[in-house]
Amino acid sequence: MASKDEQALVMVMTVLHTPEIFDLKPFSILRARFDPVELAGLIGDFGLHINVKFESAPKGTRDGAAVAFYDSVEDALFVNFTDAFSISLQGLVIHEAVHALCDKNKAKMDIGTSESMAYIVQCHFQMLRAGWGAPRPGAGARDGKDPWDVVFAQGTEIAERLESGFETGELSAFSYQPMRKAVNLHPNYKDKISQPAIYNGFKRRTK
Ligand SMILES: [Zn+2]
Repeated sequence: MASKDEQALVMVMTVLHTPEIFDLKPFSILRARFDPVELAGLIGDFGLHINVKFESAPKGTRDGAAVAFYDSVEDALFVNFTDAFSISLQGLVIHEAVHALCDKNKAKMDIGTSESMAYIVQCHFQMLRAGWGAPRPGAGARDGKDPWDVVFAQGTEIAERLESGFETGELSAFSYQPMRKAVNLHPNYKDKISQPAIYNGFKRRTK
């Protein structure tokens, strides 16, 4: 029987095999790039350069009782679940994988930029999986005003603009500023958005 850590690793790899990842659009925020092909390519790093641990992280991105957290100093992904059976749990894994990708690329960005990117990709991924007619991802009161929900409301709007081609390449201030503001409303990141995200590359190189 595989250990919980091994089951969590298989779960992450399964999510990274989702074909919709290739339907995501590349974009950048303040020149920090997101490339869906690179995201899919992270599958070769999980279990090798990135440890996956089944452990309840004290902080992290949540979906109900599920918590996921990427530690860029330890190069480790913590999850307290081993089966991403729902689209929102898959989205949680994708969100943290975006942080891992920024770490791999040693991206220079602050927490506001880092979380904006992760929420936009998470929302886009979930809409691609669920279908554009489905309810958008959300949290809390899901009213676009609740501090837990605004990141999803903004992230989904920008995902729609990327999907339609209204946004390409470098994200416009029209999209980015409200997204950054939404991150600053979120209880996890409030008043932390200008702190640098520590993306220093993977340390467990095998060659
Ligand atoms: Zn995050």
